[in-house]
Amino acid sequence: MTIWQYTDAESDVRVDRAGAPMSGLPEWPAPGRPFTAPTERQDRAPRAGRLDRREVPTLVVVQAHADDLAFLGAGTVARMVREGGYDAYLVQTTNDDKCGPTASVGETVLANERETEAVASLLGIRRTFNLGYVNHFLDTVSVAELRARLVFLFRLLRPDVVMTFNPAHPAEQNPDHWVTGQAVEAARWMAGLDKDYPEHLAAGLAPHVVRGRMYWVARAGQAMNRVVDVSDYLETKVEALAAHQAQGTAGSTGRRLRATLAAQGRHIPALGHDDESADRTYVRRFMLAPGADLGARYGMACAEPFLYLDDADADAHEASVAAWVEANAVPTVAP
Ligand SMILES: [Zn+2]
Repeated sequence: MTIWQYTDAESDVRVDRAGAPMSGLPEWPAPGRPFTAPTERQDRAPRAGRLDRREVPTLVVVQAHADDLAFLGAGTVARMVREGGYDAYLVQTTNDDKCGPTASVGETVLANERETEAVASLLGIRRTFNLGYVNHFLDTVSVAELRARLVFLFRLLRPDVVMTFNPAHPAEQNPDHWVTGQAVEAARWMAGLDKDYPEHLAAGLAPHVVRGRMYWVARAGQAMNRVVDVSDYLETKVEALAAHQAQGTAGSTGRRLRATLAAQGRHIPALGHDDESADRTYVRRFMLAPGADLGARYGMACAEPFLYLDDADADAHEASVAAWVEANAVPTVAP
């Protein structure tokens, strides 16, 4: 069975996991209903380690670069934390050393790290784990090592849902993005097996498969089957995008445009009278436009798209076996 279905971003025709056409993208969750964990049956009891774990639904976001989450899912994470009661954690695979305004590698890494922490705090994320691999060269890293680190984190944090890049990565040019997505997809499955990395089990961790996957639509043409209404989190998204001054096309672009115009003896009144105002005006006008266009099709001021997958196939299989057993099992009479 084909799991991944690719759709033309300009087309309204989507397909579900069975290949059936979908007439539109369902809002998720349904209007008026809070987010609920898709994997209620898993044990959320705290395990080994010093993390202050609670028995609530858990989300782990795995990004490659400081600004990925702000661009692709900030409103949804804020909503899951505030409305859905999720504990959220952030894992970042690279150190952002290629993306910053300074000539210093060290200062670039530091600026991005601090901005990531600021955004994590803004969104209500409980803790960030920086894996520290070199920016733009994640495809030179041992895939097995990256996967092993993620397996450990998934067993430690025991998430119900992981949010990251689509591992199938059509139209993706950044190797950090596709390597991150592929490592997460393998690790979230392998974390649930009891023969891999037995030292984790000896240390008190238990196998834990991450059943829910929310894949970002990072490039035009990547598949989606859920639309999250983030209309109530517009300002949170603006603040998250504006916080990333060191990199990306959002944070400091407004103030740089304002300075360029000033050097030409011109200005745009809407950019305001200071750098902060210019940055936020730019973000609202240009960075929120894709979410506004998508949302307009579903009566939302702003939407974030995802490809959501779970292990419904496995659940259906188990249910089918259980139903067959109940229907056919008869008492064994001793001879
Ligand atoms: Zn990125």
